Amino acid sequence: MRYLSTRDRRVSADAAEAIVRGLAPDGGLYIPESTPPLNVPVDTLLGMTYAERAAHIMGHYLTDFTAEELGELSTRAYNSGRFDAPTCAPVHSLDGDMHVLELWHGPTCAFKDMALQMLPHLLTASLRKCGETREALILTATSGDTGKAALEGFCDVPGARIMVFYPRKGVSRAQELQMITQEGRNVSVYAVAGNFDDAQNGVKALFSNKLLAEKLANRGLFFSSANSINWGRLVPQIAYFFSAYCDLINSGRVRRGEPIHICVPTGNFGNILAALFAAEMGLPVGKLLCASNRNNVLTDFIQMGTYDRRRPFYNTLSPSMDILISSNLERALYMLSGGRDAIVLDCMKSLAEIGRYSLPRVMHDTFAKRFVAGFCDDVQTKSTIGDVFRESGYLMDPHTAVAIHVARAYRRASGDETPMLIASTASPFKFSNAVLSALGDTSPADDASERLSELTGWPVPEALRGLDKKPVRFSECLPVAQMENAVWAFAGGEG
Ligand SMILES: *Cc1c(COP(=O)(O)O)cnc(C)c1O
Repeated sequence: MRYLSTRDRRVSADAAEAIVRGLAPDGGLYIPESTPPLNVPVDTLLGMTYAERAAHIMGHYLTDFTAEELGELSTRAYNSGRFDAPTCAPVHSLDGDMHVLELWHGPTCAFKDMALQMLPHLLTASLRKCGETREALILTATSGDTGKAALEGFCDVPGARIMVFYPRKGVSRAQELQMITQEGRNVSVYAVAGNFDDAQNGVKALFSNKLLAEKLANRGLFFSSANSINWGRLVPQIAYFFSAYCDLINSGRVRRGEPIHICVPTGNFGNILAALFAAEMGLPVGKLLCASNRNNVLTDFIQMGTYDRRRPFYNTLSPSMDILISSNLERALYMLSGGRDAIVLDCMKSLAEIGRYSLPRVMHDTFAKRFVAGFCDDVQTKSTIGDVFRESGYLMDPHTAVAIHVARAYRRASGDETPMLIASTASPFKFSNAVLSALGDTSPADDASERLSELTGWPVPEALRGLDKKPVRFSECLPVAQMENAVWAFAGGEG
């Protein structure tokens, strides 16, 4: 299987190269040249473990890896006791054929673990295949969830070191504690004096610093990235949609071949794009519901065919979806235009230059056939959390609540009762304060997670317990101008 740039099909790579490079050299995103149909009947997957299902699905795309290799990597990612559910991504059914796919049982309690527990293994294996003998130095700027999930994923992985930079005042206390108490010999974490854009720009400048790259090469190191445009982060995500469908068949909730809709709370469009790949491979998917918060640039795009980022930015209760440039949408444009790279290039140029683009009419029709879009404000988010908890005792985080709200609104408006799979992307205990207030509890609590647990009877996940009692390993705050020195010091340089 070859991988092509979304902006120019003549730019290509094999899977290992695409994973090592991250971004294509022309600035496009790597995408498989075709979408392979599922090569066995779904029945074959029913009796497999999650790790086996994941290895099988990834094998359709990572053709320069053997089945044995993928089986081994998948076992290391998903069977090493790092997930607190034996099936990694269990499905919880609510009334009325609504099924919640819980993607937050990994070590950081957010769905990013599903991919970032796998990516380090894919990356180090890819480096070997590409004949790269130097050690990878992963640089990440984070607004919260990605940094911690990347630290956990790369912690003590041979052949890799990781540095995370987060904005001093731009992450929640729980997120900061998760990062600065990170264990592992090959990790380093810094606060940056500035906002997320400052940290991100600092990291971008490091990636393009040729002199620094040369000095690092002399020490046997090179820069690499774990961000969400890397194909190695997307491909593990396709697996859980197949796995959930199998679980629904096994539990008798859907019949073999019966279509389901999938509703995904969306930011960068990675998770819902993985669902589109699953559908194109033959998973019986009806509609893909794209759920946004008040930053509803995708809702307008899917409904109207025009992407326009020139709008106010809102901080919401679902911060991981506070995004106005949804980078993985580029891959969906490529797929749904049938590989028209020139159209994708035009759209992306227009987005960069004037902040907007409009789809040709036929392409918008194709999008509108596949996707339904809706959004949800903070008041609706909170009432959804409260309503569902009172109805069924099921507790959810604000990102998941956005999706539930959009799924319910779609059903009411359309009368369409097709079984609905809803991606649940974070543990409610990652956002305890917001969830407490949604449940009407406004009494001050020292430890919001403990309070939420007392109130609901739900246990605090092990990974989030006693965070404030763990030793702090990283407490330095840097001006952006000092980031280069920090990298050099971490590389073992002098001066
Ligand atoms: C990253 C994230 C999302 C958005 O996922 P995308 O793949 O960027 O669309 C939603 N919810 C949570 C909790 C996240 O961490």
